[in-house]
Amino acid sequence: MPDTSTGVVVIGGGSTGAGVLRDLALRGIDAVLVEKGDLASGTTGRSHGLLHSGGRYCVNDEQAAIECVEEGRILRRIARSTVEDTGGYFVSVTEEDHEWEPRFVEGCRRTGITCERISLDEARRREPALSRHVRTVFWVPEDGHLDPFYLVVGNVESARRRGARVMTHTEVIGFLRDGDRLTGVRIRDSKTNDEGLIACQSVINATGAWSGLVARLLGVEVKVVPVKGTMVVLSRRLAHAAINRCHKPGDGDIVVPGLSVSILGTTSAKVPNPETLPIEWDEVRRMIEEGAMMLDGVTTARAMRAYAGVRPLYDLGAEAEGREMSRNFAVIDHQQRDGITGFTSIVGGKVTTYRLMAERVVDVAARQLGVSTPCRTAEVPLNDRDEPLDQLRHRPSVLGVPKPHGDEPPLQPLLCECELVRPQDVAPWFKDPAVRDLEDVRRRTRSGMGPCQAAICSYRLAARLVSDRGLDGASATRAMADFLETRWRGVRHVFWGSQLRNMQVTTGLHMELYNVDRELMLQHLPGRGGNLPPPLAGEGRGGGDSAEPAEVAAQR
Ligand SMILES: Cc1cc2nc3c(=O)[nH]c(=O)nc-3n(C[C@H](O)[C@H](O)[C@H](O)COP(=O)(O)OP(=O)(O)OC[C@H]3O[C@@H](n4cnc5c(N)ncnc54)[C@H](O)[C@@H]3O)c2cc1C
Repeated sequence: MPDTSTGVVVIGGGSTGAGVLRDLALRGIDAVLVEKGDLASGTTGRSHGLLHSGGRYCVNDEQAAIECVEEGRILRRIARSTVEDTGGYFVSVTEEDHEWEPRFVEGCRRTGITCERISLDEARRREPALSRHVRTVFWVPEDGHLDPFYLVVGNVESARRRGARVMTHTEVIGFLRDGDRLTGVRIRDSKTNDEGLIACQSVINATGAWSGLVARLLGVEVKVVPVKGTMVVLSRRLAHAAINRCHKPGDGDIVVPGLSVSILGTTSAKVPNPETLPIEWDEVRRMIEEGAMMLDGVTTARAMRAYAGVRPLYDLGAEAEGREMSRNFAVIDHQQRDGITGFTSIVGGKVTTYRLMAERVVDVAARQLGVSTPCRTAEVPLNDRDEPLDQLRHRPSVLGVPKPHGDEPPLQPLLCECELVRPQDVAPWFKDPAVRDLEDVRRRTRSGMGPCQAAICSYRLAARLVSDRGLDGASATRAMADFLETRWRGVRHVFWGSQLRNMQVTTGLHMELYNVDRELMLQHLPGRGGNLPPPLAGEGRGGGDSAEPAEVAAQR
């Protein structure tokens, strides 16, 4: 791996790091983002996808609520194509919820959140699936769905167009120092183990739940408490809007409509480190039971997969734990606090407030570098080129409906029917060196994230590895098996009813029609090299023996 140099190294390719990279690029500061996995492969890609109106925090965490209000409005302006304006409802179902209502209404008023009480009849007219338990309904128009993958990729691509660089699957494993001054980072390619150096003037630690571990490489402390949350994805959308319980934030009290699916969540449990995220059956059951208090159809819809993420809650030294801890963020200037020049950490927050977090930390780093250019991320749209496709994510009709008598180009075959992904949507990513495997293509295009969980598109994506990347058939088959394996890791937690039947179809397709298992075995016969592959998705022999804990890769 060749050594290189830059002005600022940004560690972490989640929403925070991506926002930081773009902010630096817009201020004209040369920067490289280093991410040990893929973009959005950490907490950001495992979040719930709610663009918070602030209603959830307006009683207990006013500052967090105000930030959500302001940032939500900015994101609707600058990142239009990543937001679906679903609106949201806060619903009371118990006497306890009922008692929370005046505090909620007052909290909304104090923090500037638009909120309107509507009648049950009106609410049921708008959302027929609201359960019979629902007693009171508040309409909060500024809740929305935020696609975390598009948000991160959109920020990074906007920065790259301005000269920033990105290194995915590259881990920061150490730092270079000249006395108290940071002069660079030591990096390792996570796939090849090649090592290298990046010389720089400044490093921004945007590694979320990993911030403490990264800071420790320098011998300084950043107190982050990793708090796990589990979510369950249903294969269809039960409501138009986000449905929140009107009560003190608790487990399983939000259902987010994520494009064509519904996402139930979430739990809150401290974990020893951000890499170990076991999903318990009890959590899955609780999500379904709690979701069913608000919406009919939760128990009968197909639970498609479960996944978990870990909140990077910053420990301000308070006694608060888990949900009681602030969703606010902290910028740590290590020059001031620890006497290390050129190192800054940004911890806590939410996807909704990523832009503000980036602005605050870049203000500190820029000042140290002597750059006085102000932040422009609240004004310059993410998609500042003329790319109509970016605007079409939520308009499937434009993508897919043939109009034989109009001037529209003829309907093209889709690559992933579930998520309406066309071949030309994936094509550019096969040319991007930062995209290293099919999981990386999935995060950028949503291929394989729909109801069939890659049963069909995995084969087409593997074919593109041959046509676009020049892989041989055996390597492409292996890559396809690895891709299916990561889908399987999320599916195995909801293995009953129609999802079980669905997976039997997938298994039959790949094992009996495509003979994938036989192909993989043939690769390992004498003369064809390699060790025996790990068990393939759906073989019924468990989740494989990847070096990574199975649950860690259990993303939606
Ligand atoms: C269950 C759950 C649900 C949530 N739901 C919502 C929601 O609905 N709405 C909302 O606004 N927020 C939500 N959040 C909060 C939000 O997801 C996080 O606050 C946010 O994603 C954190 O982003 P980040 O970039 O700071 O961290 P991450 O996304 O975790 O990014 C940090 C990155 O650093 C990388 N990294 C770590 N160490 C190294 C290293 N040594 N070298 C290189 N790279 C490294 C990691 O691989 C990771 O990708 C949720 C969080 C959880 C856990």
